[in-house]
Amino acid sequence: MKYYIMFGPPGAGKGTHAVALRDKYNLCHLSTGELLRAEIAAGTGLGIKAKALIEKGNLVPDEMVEKMIEKRFNTIDDVQGFLLDGFPRTLGQAADLDKMLAERGESVTAVISLMIPDEMVHARIRGRAAVEGRVDDASDVVIQNRINTYHAQTEPLIEYYSKQGKYFEVDADAPTIEENRARVLGLMEKINK
Ligand code: ADP
Repeated sequence: MKYYIMFGPPGAGKGTHAVALRDKYNLCHLSTGELLRAEIAAGTGLGIKAKALIEKGNLVPDEMVEKMIEKRFNTIDDVQGFLLDGFPRTLGQAADLDKMLAERGESVTAVISLMIPDEMVHARIRGRAAVEGRVDDASDVVIQNRINTYHAQTEPLIEYYSKQGKYFEVDADAPTIEENRARVLGLMEKINK
């Protein structure tokens, strides 16, 4: 099994481009954000706990997302691999993912990092808010908190995976989705050569 990680700040296009990679490479796309929003919509205990944190732009506890991911690793096997979107987001999650995979005799294949400047995050998310109606996309304060959280807690993963030679970056700042998708698909081809 392959284990790819879609990495980047909020609004970089992780979910959008993950769908293209999923279809082309027969991968299971796991977005922890989407899984959490499904729990919220279903009104589960986990969803209720997650809702308050997500609406403020804070991360949910590591253990919460790790359990959701592990459950899918244990039950999904009709694919070539997994495309993790929005996970891991902390060094703790990255270390736990390594452990989870080592127990299965597996390891992270590559990190596909989509880079956009902070100014672009605000504009992209404001555009998305109108389409998707996410509560955490509607407020500039919440968006800024997510950007700050990304820099403080998620960015250190760049060094973590670079040291392992698994970090691959692409500029995802082109004006059209098609151009950015072409860049991501090009990077993926290079990774798999
Ligand atoms: P975006 O693409 O804007 O980053 P996501 O859908 O990936 O949005 O995540 C939405 C929210 O869900 C995050 O702001 C965070 O509160 C929560 N979340 C998602 N993934 C994780 C994770 N791996 N660890 C902790 N919290 C997470």
